[in-house]
Amino acid sequence: MKTPPTVLQVAVPAPVSGSFDYLPPAGAGGPIQPGQRLRVPFGRSTRIGVVIGSSEGSSLPAARLKPALELLDQEPLLPGDLVRMLLFAARYYQHPVGEVFAAALPAGLRSGQAPAAGARLFRLTAAGCEAAADPTHPLRRAPAQARLLEQLAGALDGLEPDALRELSGDWRRAVKALAARGGLEEGERRALPPAGGNEPAPPLNPAQAEAAAAITGVAGYGCLLLDGVTGSGKTEVYLAAIERMIADGRQSLVLVPEIALTPQLVGRFRRRLAAPVVEMHSGLADGDRLRSWTATRDGSAAVVIGTRSAIFAPLARPGLIIVDEEHDASYKQQEGFRYSARDLAVWRAHELGIPVVLGSATPALESIENCRAGRYRRLVLPARAGGASSPSITLVDLRRQRLEAGLGTALRTAMREHLSGGGQVLLYLNRRGYAPTLLCTDCGWIATCTRCDARYVLHRARHRLVCHHCGAERPAPDQCPDCSAELRTLGMGTEQLEHYLAEQFAEWPVVRIDRDTTRRRGEMARRLEQVRSAEARILVGTQMLTKGHDFPQVTLVGILDADQGLFGTDFRSSERLAQALVQVAGRAGRAERPGQVLVQTAFPQHPLLRTLLASGYAHFAELALLERRETGWPPYTCLCLLRAEAPQREAVTRFLAQAKQAAAALAGAGLDLLGPAPAPMERRSGRYRGQLLARAPGRRELQEFLPGWRDALAALPGQQRVRWTLDVDPVELA
Ligand code: ADP
Ligand code: ZN
Ligand code: ZN
Repeated sequence: MKTPPTVLQVAVPAPVSGSFDYLPPAGAGGPIQPGQRLRVPFGRSTRIGVVIGSSEGSSLPAARLKPALELLDQEPLLPGDLVRMLLFAARYYQHPVGEVFAAALPAGLRSGQAPAAGARLFRLTAAGCEAAADPTHPLRRAPAQARLLEQLAGALDGLEPDALRELSGDWRRAVKALAARGGLEEGERRALPPAGGNEPAPPLNPAQAEAAAAITGVAGYGCLLLDGVTGSGKTEVYLAAIERMIADGRQSLVLVPEIALTPQLVGRFRRRLAAPVVEMHSGLADGDRLRSWTATRDGSAAVVIGTRSAIFAPLARPGLIIVDEEHDASYKQQEGFRYSARDLAVWRAHELGIPVVLGSATPALESIENCRAGRYRRLVLPARAGGASSPSITLVDLRRQRLEAGLGTALRTAMREHLSGGGQVLLYLNRRGYAPTLLCTDCGWIATCTRCDARYVLHRARHRLVCHHCGAERPAPDQCPDCSAELRTLGMGTEQLEHYLAEQFAEWPVVRIDRDTTRRRGEMARRLEQVRSAEARILVGTQMLTKGHDFPQVTLVGILDADQGLFGTDFRSSERLAQALVQVAGRAGRAERPGQVLVQTAFPQHPLLRTLLASGYAHFAELALLERRETGWPPYTCLCLLRAEAPQREAVTRFLAQAKQAAAALAGAGLDLLGPAPAPMERRSGRYRGQLLARAPGRRELQEFLPGWRDALAALPGQQRVRWTLDVDPVELA
């Protein structure tokens, strides 16, 4: 009898839920293991896949079973725990396994490169440095070369091809010419930035010391919620625990919610820790990303700091995972492979048998419930570290104020006081642009996006109308396109606020931090530096400012409009608002100076605001959890949102009706279906959008239901005419 051949299961990037079977490539020596990459034939081309298992024989007929073309790694590229996590995630989030593996790999590895490649860079020679400093130097005669000289002059270590490509169009020719004339040379980047680690740590206060000891004292797996107000010294606790890991020869992975937060944190960690710290996020050039990845994989990096996708870091010697600002919605990927990095962090720590720390001043209700149920351990830092006192928070009734650019009398008065006293002022307005509405009061015309159910936002400096939902732009009209009357704006955006301040608070320099002003690389860092150096005295910002930045000289925070989130349609909107208010308030008075917070609202009697301000976030969370339990929302139930969209409304309606029938036929006890209903904004980018929510009593029930539902959806007659996705544990129901 012939023995059946060994067949490899390969995760190949393709929109298909399962893996693909291949025979080992010709000449492969030993057995091939999960985590090794293969080049495989796929349709008429080839793709790079990752081996996830092997078996004897295949369900495919022998004639269709093809050998892989090439084995790319002699050993598993991905560590075993990462392979297992990705397999789990593909199942849990109902996403094609090949796309899940592709999402976890840096671009170079996805396209088949070897892990250590790609360290080439260019830097100036001595002659080049001279030319960069001397405007009349002969090397500067060609404009492209002059530009290149200037770019390289700012980069001591040199720049990679990636970075040059971004900076100027004709870079290849300019590089060649300049190299031929002796102005620049090619080099290699040092493998890792040198470890610093000479800055002393402050002695921990008793609560911090207890928390750090609790973390390092965990034997095996444990999830700890580090619940501490902003400025209570959570980062110092992380550092203490990480130092211990370094001493034990183990790596730490630290997740942060925003790219903009990494340089600050990386800097702080490098000054403190005598071991290599690398960063990992989408803001890095491909080469740098690959280098961080490789240093993590080979164990030379002791600490990895990164955003959401860093949860896929290939840790060689894992010891600790930290998720900072764990409540932040950005840990949930909102398109494609919709994973939660925070939830995967807990899964991975459990799989590895190591501690995981979730830190926040405003923990997610899910995490608080997990503590209450005994699954997580809660560590509390009750007070601000280093003697700073907590800010006083006051509600200001908007209806009794005379408003100028959205600022009431009380807030304007307080601003002048604080500014004259030498403090900085932070104004929070979660709406960018000049004004959210442009309209004609004669005929009623309103500037509306043609592709969305949304108004255009006026960006006045650029003279553009911009749709914040689909990105569409057009020139702003000077007069009403229908009746030629003069146009008016309604509502307030950060651009207008900045404009007003420049006129009415002219003595005090303003810096605006939002997505529009920080789009260019390096701009965020530059603006934060203006804040830190106190060159800027008034900060105007959106949500971006509420995330973890430390502004020790801010003494007054003004929240222009607390009501934006108060009456949202989502069951999470009150939680989000409470978190944003507490986070932004926490930016004030972090150093010696006491802080003051003014919250403008038209609903000063609103129970949520009252509870939050009178008794704090923990009390608010308790009430909110009670309400969730009564109304049957997470964390007391588990959700999966089916979204569908199509150019025709009727295609969406029909598909969702079929989807509901299919679900009803499968659903076990306790599962209920809400909808179908149009999305809160039904039309976006020219497509109609609808949704159907499946709600189960627990994870197990939902997970048992989903695979069957997904297969049924894929087979529905109506599915060809729509784009549909499943979102497991959705954080936004829109
Ligand atoms: P969090 O991460 O909770 O916002 P940080 O760790 O950034 O807090 O600490 C806030 C500020 O207090 C920082 O300037 C930090 O250097 C300082 N700090 C933290 N712990 C101590 C301590 N034990 N003694 C003195 N200063 C401290
Ligand atoms: Zn008009
Ligand atoms: Zn639009």
